[in-house]
Amino acid sequence: MIKTDKKPTNPEYLNRNIYSPHRTVTCEKCGAVLYYESISDTHVGEFGARYITCPYCDNEILTEEEGIIITVDNLEEEYFTDFTKGVEIDFDKVKKWIEIAVKCLEQNHDESYYITSSGNTFVCVFRGDGDECDYYVLWCPYGYKEVELKQKF
Ligand SMILES: [Zn+2]
Repeated sequence: MIKTDKKPTNPEYLNRNIYSPHRTVTCEKCGAVLYYESISDTHVGEFGARYITCPYCDNEILTEEEGIIITVDNLEEEYFTDFTKGVEIDFDKVKKWIEIAVKCLEQNHDESYYITSSGNTFVCVFRGDGDECDYYVLWCPYGYKEVELKQKF
């Protein structure tokens, strides 16, 4: 296989695809066109899919190689989707999500939880036992927060 260590100096040839499309990826962040020889050049990441790390900008580039099925037995930290750099959600919006979740759980007695997420924030409201706690709320803006709610009457 033909390899290159240096990009063409003439911009006309910079993005020319000289390798098999299946083994060639384009970095969406910096525009570099990269090739790899085999699946062993990739690594498993988010969603269990296979990625190449761009040597120019460290961007993770999705390949067309077949990924893996994630189970509890093969679970690794890098398989999780990382939302820490997502858009920040202010607490007024989080409060509205919790109000909607509680309303939904009050109307649907067969449901045991309600999940909302956007940007860097995750909110889950669980139905409580009804004695000590009617609703149990997880709020994860960057880490982990919780509150126990009583049902409104
Ligand atoms: Zn790049």
